Amino acid sequence: MVLIDPYGRKVTGLRISVTSRCNLRCIYCHHEGEVAGGREISREMAVNVVNAASRLGMRSVKITGGEPLMRRDLEEMIAGFKEVAPGVEISITTNGVYLKERAERLAAAGLSRANISLDSLDPERYRSITGAREGDLERVLDGIEAAMLSGLRPVKLNMVVLKENEREIPEMIEFSRKSGVTLQLIELLGEGPKGDLESVERLLEAQADGVLTRELHRRRKYFLNGAVVEIVRPIDNTEFCAHCNRLRVTSDGKLKPCLLRNDNLLEIGSTDPDEIERLILEAVRRREPFFRCGDADAGR
Ligand code: SAM
Repeated sequence: MVLIDPYGRKVTGLRISVTSRCNLRCIYCHHEGEVAGGREISREMAVNVVNAASRLGMRSVKITGGEPLMRRDLEEMIAGFKEVAPGVEISITTNGVYLKERAERLAAAGLSRANISLDSLDPERYRSITGAREGDLERVLDGIEAAMLSGLRPVKLNMVVLKENEREIPEMIEFSRKSGVTLQLIELLGEGPKGDLESVERLLEAQADGVLTRELHRRRKYFLNGAVVEIVRPIDNTEFCAHCNRLRVTSDGKLKPCLLRNDNLLEIGSTDPDEIERLILEAVRRREPFFRCGDADAGR
């Protein structure tokens, strides 16, 4: 079974924000499109949602936040997901500060892959972008190594391209090549000191040994002498919505059909699996492309 929304888009993944708490204060953070955090989704509710989603044919779950590692019960939560939905692939997006100590247990619980935010390799710049404390950058670097040693694959670095860090991209590419991780260069969503990703992409095009376009959001993937660099461009890519295949769950337990809207959320409330399935179906019915390219049928 595959869920299909009214615009013909398959809905194959859940993106669950498991907390709005975070140990960092990144200057650009979009907070996963959430308004002020309220109570935190319970482990039981998160497991019930994953159970219902997998029964409806969803195949992947991305754990996000806030910072997911702020939750001490994350390993139990992942094990719970695996118990009710063994075939579902579970990934995480984390700032990596607390990853070193937990990577192995997370992998043992059933986590498959990890995206780790890393906006700079320069300790001072890293601190000024993320509000991190002294020593946090080293913790993230150790976390990346631990993720690789624990067998999480792929491990991807998420770098939001800003004016402050765009000159560091060659160094980041070199770092990712040496560490065996993929570098994701992310275009800043919303207002802020956006870097010039277009020029970066022109350079990559000129230097790459090969280029692939992924179906998800038509992301381009460049191969450069052993390094892998992906470009994530949510705003200027007019096909962003057409290829969106996820349903979001907010940290306070609501189904969120679109990152960029807060007027069509559905409160989960119930722990009854049939009721949660009904709510997921309703959330899928409420999905519509945010960027319609001036044409209501653009996403069909
Ligand atoms: N704290 C976790 C982390 O650092 O991955 C999870 C939450 S964070 C909101 C998830 C991802 O969204 C991070 O990779 C971050 O870089 C990205 N992100 C946050 N705000 C963004 C923005 N305004 N534009 C583009 N990406 C953004």
